[in-house]
Amino acid sequence: MTQPADADARRAVKPVICYPNETLPLPDLALYRRAFGTARKTSEVLVPPREAACFHVPAGHFFRISSVDGPQVGDLNLWNAADLSERFYSGKSRALHGTHLTVGERMWSSFPTLRPMATIVEDTLGWYGMDAYGGAVHDVIGTRCDPYTGNLLSGAQYHHCCHSNLIRALADETGMSMAEAEPHVHDVLNVFMCTGFTRDTGQYFMKASPVRPGDHLDFFAEIDLLGALSACPGGDCSSEHTSDVAACYPLLVEVFAPSEGALEGWESLAVNGYDRTHGR
Ligand SMILES: [Zn+2]
Repeated sequence: MTQPADADARRAVKPVICYPNETLPLPDLALYRRAFGTARKTSEVLVPPREAACFHVPAGHFFRISSVDGPQVGDLNLWNAADLSERFYSGKSRALHGTHLTVGERMWSSFPTLRPMATIVEDTLGWYGMDAYGGAVHDVIGTRCDPYTGNLLSGAQYHHCCHSNLIRALADETGMSMAEAEPHVHDVLNVFMCTGFTRDTGQYFMKASPVRPGDHLDFFAEIDLLGALSACPGGDCSSEHTSDVAACYPLLVEVFAPSEGALEGWESLAVNGYDRTHGR
């Protein structure tokens, strides 16, 4: 392949950050943490291995996703509990915060609302950082394991991918048919999953999650949320998914309510301010 004479010079151009996030509205983490300190548990759901479950979190409450029994990765969907068309936007969250989310970063909603749905307030895997392979935890780069890609690559008919698990859970929760529920399932936050892109070929990789029982990721709900979490059939995602081969464990979701007045001064961010005329 021929290269232009200035190929090296073009490659040497320094990158600029697409979305400098200094002007993002910042969460008041100190307030959230103080409020969490006052909170009491109001509900919990144990997500069985290779299944998903739904949960509700009122605005201003907290939820915790914990590893129990063994290393396990979870695929998380979030919706506005009152309007499922407002849902987590993995791609924009990635553009704003980077490939993996941790404390102080947010799960942003889809257009046209584009506002914080949930803010991460504690991450017991925050110590992991980025490893020598470029791997890190809690990514917003993967989509969710699904039976269509499995079929494309191997002709399989496998029914416990996170995509299918999330559809069944949402259908059970809302009374929708499977066909009605499927379009609401969206790209996830890969909770506890350790992933990156290979440096040489840029391919998406996964490796055994560093999560251990007791590790947890804690969120503050910025709006009324319906959540669905799938305990991925990949288990700790050390080898394969889209099969029943990997060892899988449950995941625990707990919801907490802060004490009265603990969030004095906090309110949900309004929906995005763009006027939506798009030049017409
Ligand atoms: Zn999965």
